[in-house]
Amino acid sequence: MEPCNECGNTAVLPKSYGGHSVLECDLCGALSGGHASVATIELAREAQQEGIDAPAYGVQRALSSLDGVMVLDCQGGCRSRRKLPNVRFQAMDSRGFVQLENLAKSLRLSAGSMSMAWTIEVDFQSGLEFVLTPRVATSRPREADVALAQSDLPLLARALERDVRLSWWRRP
Ligand SMILES: [Zn+2]
Repeated sequence: MEPCNECGNTAVLPKSYGGHSVLECDLCGALSGGHASVATIELAREAQQEGIDAPAYGVQRALSSLDGVMVLDCQGGCRSRRKLPNVRFQAMDSRGFVQLENLAKSLRLSAGSMSMAWTIEVDFQSGLEFVLTPRVATSRPREADVALAQSDLPLLARALERDVRLSWWRRP
């Protein structure tokens, strides 16, 4: 078996987390194996450390990385309580509003690959706030809506991470 990439330890063991099979270093915990599996598990671990719902963490991270945007709250949604996932954020200054336009365009472009129609709601609490959340026709979403919205979250995170690198994304 290959030694650990991080520390060179030779005790590298096969492990499974949430259906993802990887190799884990017995000494330092570094993961190796399939890129997608490693990325999924590392994201889940990072989310846990940050105390953020794992499914929504990728979206939260993508939004937080934008200049002028501050994420206020991040919810992964709950099927039994029929709570849709949402990420609440603020535009800190004019850069944030440029990012809002970028974000709206990104949602538009990725709409075809999403199960739900994701939208940006405008709200006012102590200041102007925006909420990234899926649109549903009824006031009380069905469990199935929540499940579909949750399955969209990783796609949404990937779409954002891709789009910020593209030439049309305006850099404020
Ligand atoms: Zn190691």
